[in-house]
Amino acid sequence: MKDCIFCKIANKEIKSDIVYEDKYVVAFPDINPQAPVHLLIVPKEHIESPYDINERNKDIVGHVYIIIKKLAQRYGIDKKGYRIVSNCGDDGGQTVMHLHFHLLGGRFMTWPPG
Ligand code: C5P
Repeated sequence: MKDCIFCKIANKEIKSDIVYEDKYVVAFPDINPQAPVHLLIVPKEHIESPYDINERNKDIVGHVYIIIKKLAQRYGIDKKGYRIVSNCGDDGGQTVMHLHFHLLGGRFMTWPPG
C-alpha cells in the first residue's frame, strides 16, 4: 500500500532494524519503546486493523502468535511473561493503520491500560 510506513518497512523502502522475517511477517523494535523489550510484529500483507481480519486472512493471526512465542524465547521474556497488544481504531489507540502486534516484556505490566 502506497504511503503506508509499515508496508515501506516490510518491503525495505525504509530501513529498520528487522529482527525477524519470513514470507508472511517482519518484526522490528518499536521506535518509542514502552518496555525493555518492545517489538512490533507486522504482517507483510497490508491489512488495516484487527477489524479487517476475515475468513480469507485469518491464518496470519495464528502465525503471528507462534512467531511472538519464538521471539519471547529469544529475548528471554518467555518465563516471566509478556503482553501482546493490537490496538484497533481511534479509541483503541491505533496510530499506524497497518495491522501490527506489540510484544512488550521485561517489566511488570499494570492493568488496566490507559
Ligand atoms: O498501536 P499503534 O498504532 O499506536 O502503534 C504504532 C507503533 O508504531 C507506535 O508504538 C510507534 O512508536 C511505532 N512506530 C515505529 N516506527 C515507525 C512509526 C511508528 O516503531 N516508523
